[in-house]
Amino acid sequence: MAVSYPKLPLRELGNTGLKTSSVGFGASPLGSVFSPVSEEDAVAAVREAFRLGINFFDTSPYYGRNLSEKMLGKGLKALGVPRSEYIVSTKCGRYGEGFDFSAERVTRSIDESLARLQLDYVDILHCHDIEFGSLDQIVNETIPALQKLKEAGKTRFLGITGLPLEIFTYVLDRVPPGTIDVILSYCHYSINDSTLLDLLPYLKSKGVGIISASPLAMGLLTDQGPPEWHPASPELKSACQAAADHCRKKGRNITKLAIQYSLVNKDISTVLVGMNSVRQVEENVAAAEELATFGRDEETLSEVEAILNPVKNQTWPSGIQNS
Ligand code: NAD
Repeated sequence: MAVSYPKLPLRELGNTGLKTSSVGFGASPLGSVFSPVSEEDAVAAVREAFRLGINFFDTSPYYGRNLSEKMLGKGLKALGVPRSEYIVSTKCGRYGEGFDFSAERVTRSIDESLARLQLDYVDILHCHDIEFGSLDQIVNETIPALQKLKEAGKTRFLGITGLPLEIFTYVLDRVPPGTIDVILSYCHYSINDSTLLDLLPYLKSKGVGIISASPLAMGLLTDQGPPEWHPASPELKSACQAAADHCRKKGRNITKLAIQYSLVNKDISTVLVGMNSVRQVEENVAAAEELATFGRDEETLSEVEAILNPVKNQTWPSGIQNS
């Protein structure tokens, strides 16, 4: 018998007026970056996500060298619902062939993305992984170019993304208030790394919407484990594997626990989980629903936290400033 789920809660995204579902759909897996995904599975995953109340979909030209945007575009079209019913973000500046944060490239990029997504506009255009560029170029050249795209109606809001948390303060301290509407942080609000917590008061004081991505630490907190390219240290990988094994032996699921951990903090508007199938969508939405109904499994969470304690908040270098 089909299980029917109530709709996911919506949360305000900073001052944008957008209301994003607490679980967002990360479309990087649709670019086959973790494992191969068929078009049929990609479209079905997007449709199931929307049916279960996920209204926010995130992609980038970088994911699978444009493949994720194309797959997401097909999935969204197949929804057959008015454009205002879903929220889409894509990115610019990072591509399969490398980084280019020049005004010329990002201006061209949005038109290419819109064509692949089969959309007239995106809701959010992010500058992608800005730690790989000059942050002064981002402030003085890229963001002003993105503001023109906003004025032209190609995107409604602007964001910045990246791994090191200090990039957010660097940029937000140097642009006029309201220029950057949202930030997307990843791998910093999951069971093994919760360092985004310290930045939340600052981000709230700036009025930016907070998107937290990769609650599964890009596959570390899953039974199947991370992809080969995962940048974590062997120590971090094996601690996460031990945590997953512990959950499995107890009849619990590390992925569910990890998603619930990230969802608890309501200062985070949406938790972006990468999903590649109807099964993953259903499991992840069910994790949110179970959280709302029963709360977290505190006992298993403290056991997992103890296993991960030796590697707590361990991250990896990213970008030209930190490499
Ligand atoms: P994630 O932590 O969400 O993990 C994704 C992996 O977990 C994939 O392999 C996925 O198939 C798997 N998974 C998902 N649900 C599962 C389930 N129920 N059971 C087992 N496995 C499951 O990592 P992510 O995909 O990198 O991050 C989420 C999204 O956030 C991305 O798709 C992307 O949209 C965004 N993101 C953006 C940036 C950036 O802007 N720099 C960086 C990372 C992520």
